[in-house]
Amino acid sequence: MLDALKKEITYIKGVGPKRAELYAKLGIRDAFDLLCHFPRDYIDYSSWVPIKDAPADAPCCVKAKLVKKLAPAFIRKGLTVYKALLTDGEDDLTLIIYNAEYQFRSLSDGKEYILSGRVTGNLVRREISSPLILPADSPDLIQPVYRLTEGLSQNMIRQNIHTVLDSIGGDIFEPLPPEIMHRYSLCSLDYALENIHFPRDSHALSLAKRRLVFDELLTLRLGMTLLRLKGLKATGCRMDPRDISDYYSSLPFELTSCQRRAIEDCCGDMCRTFPMNRLVQGDVGSGKTAVAAGAACFAVRNGYQTALMAPTEILAAQHYETLSGFLEPLGIKVALLTGSLTPKKKSALKEQVKNGEYQVVVGTHALVQQTTEFHRLGLVITDEQHRFGVGQRDGLAAKGENPHKLVMSATPIPRTLAMMIYGDLDLSVLDELPKGRKPVKTYAVTGKLRERAFGFVRDRLDEGRQAYIVCPMIEENDQELQSVKEYAQRLETNDFRGYRVGLLHGRMSAADKEKVMRRFKDHELDLLVSTTVVEVGVDVPNAAVMLIENADRFGLSQLHQLRGRVGRGSFESSCILVTDNPTEESVKRLKILSSTPDGFKVSEEDLKLRGPGDFFGSRQHGLPALKIADMSSDTELLRLAQSAADSITSSDPELTRPEHAGLRELAERLFEDNKE
Ligand code: ADP
Ligand code: MG
Repeated sequence: MLDALKKEITYIKGVGPKRAELYAKLGIRDAFDLLCHFPRDYIDYSSWVPIKDAPADAPCCVKAKLVKKLAPAFIRKGLTVYKALLTDGEDDLTLIIYNAEYQFRSLSDGKEYILSGRVTGNLVRREISSPLILPADSPDLIQPVYRLTEGLSQNMIRQNIHTVLDSIGGDIFEPLPPEIMHRYSLCSLDYALENIHFPRDSHALSLAKRRLVFDELLTLRLGMTLLRLKGLKATGCRMDPRDISDYYSSLPFELTSCQRRAIEDCCGDMCRTFPMNRLVQGDVGSGKTAVAAGAACFAVRNGYQTALMAPTEILAAQHYETLSGFLEPLGIKVALLTGSLTPKKKSALKEQVKNGEYQVVVGTHALVQQTTEFHRLGLVITDEQHRFGVGQRDGLAAKGENPHKLVMSATPIPRTLAMMIYGDLDLSVLDELPKGRKPVKTYAVTGKLRERAFGFVRDRLDEGRQAYIVCPMIEENDQELQSVKEYAQRLETNDFRGYRVGLLHGRMSAADKEKVMRRFKDHELDLLVSTTVVEVGVDVPNAAVMLIENADRFGLSQLHQLRGRVGRGSFESSCILVTDNPTEESVKRLKILSSTPDGFKVSEEDLKLRGPGDFFGSRQHGLPALKIADMSSDTELLRLAQSAADSITSSDPELTRPEHAGLRELAERLFEDNKE
């Protein structure tokens, strides 16, 4: 990259330390950052209309010649009104400016201007007040509008960007190899930066945009590849093929073909010189745990230990149960490490893990990651449930000898996005549900039907099933907790009198949660009233109904996760979404859920409704924030950029060739900027 582009912002002519501080607030530190502060919008003075066509209720641009300035009217102290008459040859227009004497004086008789604003009045007398005014012969008819921070104005930013562009003098470096520019019909970076800020015309602007979106997506993809290569330190846990067919045959069910494939993918990965880094992505109930157990079995057969980390204690306990159910018959010992163990037991267990008596260790992230020593750790499995993205998974890599990693995620996201988001991982998708699973019937109802819905739930309980009633606690404060408690109380004494009702909420101690969950699992409770803590993967096959209160307060994906808690057995099951606040928007959202059981579809619709801003804005994914590309609408460019990235990395994965130096720099820069 040119040195001129790395110049700290404060040294740019016209900036200085004070303004540099303001720029820092926008994340702009050097000249290149400034050039990448792309306009959030444009005022297009080139698309003016004749005065008679100016809409009555919307701003627009008109072009007119100034005929005559009128004498200023001094209304009172501090208020002077300046007026001028203009014409476009057919119609007249009165320009009104308040107080801005300097602006008024800069206008000349006989000169043509383009005015941007709202034209008011009637056919006889049209006026425009305080418009933006540009000489019609100005070379920059499309003007950028920037995101600002207090103390910075549009003009300051425009000027500073002008200065930078001028100083480089159309000689910006070109990071793209010529054949790529040619293959994808892209303009030069030089042209793109010039025209994204000061577009010649709308065509030039769209060329510029296309190039910059392409670059951003390409850079992101390349950056992900680099990130992944960095993790590619040879593993000390290279495994050999082992027969695990007894695992397959000891399972109480037949694995689906995608579960089988996922396990085989993992086994294949673990036999290579580099550590596995694989994501198993599958909708709730798709059977990710059986995949994890298969991989663990393979590692154990190779003489290695496996650690499985879950986000909560309940979930860890459940994984423990499932895994020990699957693996102990094969002679594999599984340990559960949780905070609720007595210190004595805990240290005894840890000792046994350390000396290798246990081959599989299940626990919460904190416990397994921070305080456990292993005998010979070869595989680390993380259950992320609905979090996803890069980073944060590396805590255990330092333990053992660069062990293999397997991540389970229940966030179904559209495939194109998955490619981008999980660029640093290999992907196994479980897109086929186990046989015999019936989709959860989903109904959205208003509060008026609550009584009937309760009746429906009672009927199912009478048939011997169990049910969840979920009510959201958003803030998890005392007041909310109180109302959840009262709500549960009411259910127990009124609608569900005679049934065994339990309450589970996020502020209970881990041990208490465990106790309640255990009782529900053992069918000592019929109905579990819960805040969203059940969301994380709890598995009770006999639970066949879920009723969700205030369903409109949840995100679609979250609701989908929740309803995945039922329909895990062979029973017909249902999910009832209750809302007391049926706005058009919320009804539309909830209908999506009743229309499809497919988590991938739900997330696609969710993405459309909430927009990518929300999806990607939340930064949950750990990806760099995008400046100009929009992953949900720039799908065509996303595809192109991906294929360009793949063709570059297939011959030069680490971007070490001189012709890729610029790209490498940009990719590193992108991830560096976002480290915090
Ligand atoms: P998730 O992908 O949501 O984590 P789980 O691994 O908890 O799903 O599996 C959900 C339920 O389905 C569990 O009770 C599990 O034993 C069962 N299961 C998994 N695979 C199969 C299969 N191939 N056939 C039948 N049941 C299965
Ligand atoms: Mg699970």
